[in-house]
Amino acid sequence: MPLTNAQRLWERHEALARIGATGRGGVCRLALTAEDTAGRALLLSWASRLGLIAEMDPIGNLFLRRIGREPDTAPVWTGSHLDTQPTGGKYDGIYGVLAGLEVLESFAERGVVTRRPIELVVWTDEEGVRFQPTTMGSAVHAGAVRLEEALGARDADGVTAEDALAAQMAALGGVARRRLGSAAHAYVEAHIEQGPVLEAERRVIGAVTGIQGLRQFAIALAGEEAHAGTTPASRRKDAFVAAHRIVAALHRLVEDATGTTRFTIGRFQAAPGSPNTVPGRVEFTIDLRHPDLGRLERLTQGIADICSREAAPCTAAVTPLLDSTPVAFDPAMVERVRAAARRLGHEPLDILSGATHDAKFMAGLCPTAMIFIPCRGGVSHNESEAVEPEHLAAGAEVLAEVLRELAEE
Ligand SMILES: [Zn+2]
Repeated sequence: MPLTNAQRLWERHEALARIGATGRGGVCRLALTAEDTAGRALLLSWASRLGLIAEMDPIGNLFLRRIGREPDTAPVWTGSHLDTQPTGGKYDGIYGVLAGLEVLESFAERGVVTRRPIELVVWTDEEGVRFQPTTMGSAVHAGAVRLEEALGARDADGVTAEDALAAQMAALGGVARRRLGSAAHAYVEAHIEQGPVLEAERRVIGAVTGIQGLRQFAIALAGEEAHAGTTPASRRKDAFVAAHRIVAALHRLVEDATGTTRFTIGRFQAAPGSPNTVPGRVEFTIDLRHPDLGRLERLTQGIADICSREAAPCTAAVTPLLDSTPVAFDPAMVERVRAAARRLGHEPLDILSGATHDAKFMAGLCPTAMIFIPCRGGVSHNESEAVEPEHLAAGAEVLAEVLRELAEE
């Protein structure tokens, strides 16, 4: 007999997707907007029927608590986020929240009372679209970003996160406050894979072993603008030619027979952008990802070396934009996910997360695990994000097993 109600879980995704629905089947529910508030209000209405106790911390992370036999023990946490990309889907983040709710509702229906409390967490502003940085709520919770800094973030219209959060708290009314940084016994986050691996391998459950590291750089090449018709090659300081050499060398640097390294030049601009002027300036970005910190360090050094070696007669400046250290989840927690999946008849696949998640910050605070389910074609951050209803239910059932186990410890 299934541990969770697959139909209810599916219908709740559909209900939430109507809040901020886009014309093309997707969702636009940016953090701390009226839509985000409405999404949280709907969740709160479901939670209040279960008697869950709602609290918000100073960055707006929302906690829904189901008490246990020993209410003073450290709670087990599960959750994810309800905010989306501007052209986002129905499942990224939302699944982790609704799967957690489904587990708590199923426990209530079956009279399961755990020793420890279980708390469902909705992290604030995971997507980092309206306010930066991304994973704002979990970063502040973990102390990786200062509260004042996060609250001071401004959107494109100059509105601060502080004011947007105050408006949300006022609209939600009645939700009690809690201090920042409360402790958990363990954290488990369910999420769609957002990649093609599980589908290709025909597996339903991914036991996530960790989250790869990410570094971003801005490269600026300075040369000299000159007349395209009169300046011989020997006298040019052509920033595009230097960039071309550098980019070719970078692609050789990141060649990787295992296919593990992710290297992207996502933005490339030459100035002044005139057809008959030698470009005097080129700027481009590098997004570099790898699960191994040592390899990331060596590649970072390689980027610096290539830029200084290949830039002449131009000059190159490398500016780090972002540095997110790779995370390995607690092996015992990963094993719990594998074991629970097998008990439920799903042979799990060990998988590394290519995307970042709130679990990254929890991993530094308590034993942490993630459960992945497939998404169609590996497509995510896209209005056409799609999943199979039975996969939603399978992941929730694995989550139920793992949470029950952890909450009895
Ligand atoms: Zn997400």
